[in-house]
Amino acid sequence: MKGKLYIVGIGPGYEQYMVPRAKECIEESQVIIGYETYVALIEHLIKGKEVYTYPMTQEVDRANQAIKFAEEGKVVSLVSSGDPGIYGMAGLVYEILAEKNWKDDPYVEVVPGVSALNACSALIGSPLMTDFAVVSMSDLLVPWDIIVKRVKAAAEGDYVIVIYNPQSKKRVHQLRDTRDLLLKYRSKDTPVAIVKAAYRDKQEIVLTDLEHMLDYQDKLGMLSTVIIGNSSTFIHNGLMINPRGYKSKYQIVREA
Ligand code: SAH
Repeated sequence: MKGKLYIVGIGPGYEQYMVPRAKECIEESQVIIGYETYVALIEHLIKGKEVYTYPMTQEVDRANQAIKFAEEGKVVSLVSSGDPGIYGMAGLVYEILAEKNWKDDPYVEVVPGVSALNACSALIGSPLMTDFAVVSMSDLLVPWDIIVKRVKAAAEGDYVIVIYNPQSKKRVHQLRDTRDLLLKYRSKDTPVAIVKAAYRDKQEIVLTDLEHMLDYQDKLGMLSTVIIGNSSTFIHNGLMINPRGYKSKYQIVREA
């Protein structure tokens, strides 16, 4: 029998924010594989199944194991937080399968999820209303000079910028350097939101600006997403808002 590999996005946290198809795939699966924290979020959905958890750094092992089980004919869900196609497991699985010259066995399906950017945006207003760019500060897989080039291009293009993996205990200069670079293009009162653990029990939200964003060190970790406004982002009633149209009467164009 042909195996199946579902690469499932479980959303940002609470189950209400997981798409119904994700639950169907998890239900159908005999084997569940994932990073331990994400598997813990769906514990009640996977009782009685074969469950394999891995620490954060072992993505390649996780992907290989999931593929192996599916090749053996099992139905497997490889779970990823948010959307598996955004800094998630989908790219890694397809990369390995492409190397093996995979065609249609096992059956593979990516189940989309609410990414951190959707979740965080909804919690703080409408900061991603028109054009935005997403950059990860993690230089483990992308060299730092390329990240800087991308931040610069996004800054020049006046994109709202979403930052994933902003900093960790060991990795702190990247966010600081990014902020310094952005200050060359954007005014220091540009709105910035820091959202930690969106739709999870320890959720925290800070609305600040480019000048003060680094003052909130206890909110800036691997569970946080940072959203940096552009020249038309404004704050109203504690919300970070981008107008729908560039001709909006509410539009404020901030000079750098
Ligand atoms: N595939 C995931 C992203 C994985 S990269 C997605 O689509 O959401 C991991 C980064 O995502 C974290 O460092 C953080 O920046 C962000 N993130 C994931 N879940 C989050 C949450 N619940 N709240 C805030 N940020 C989150």
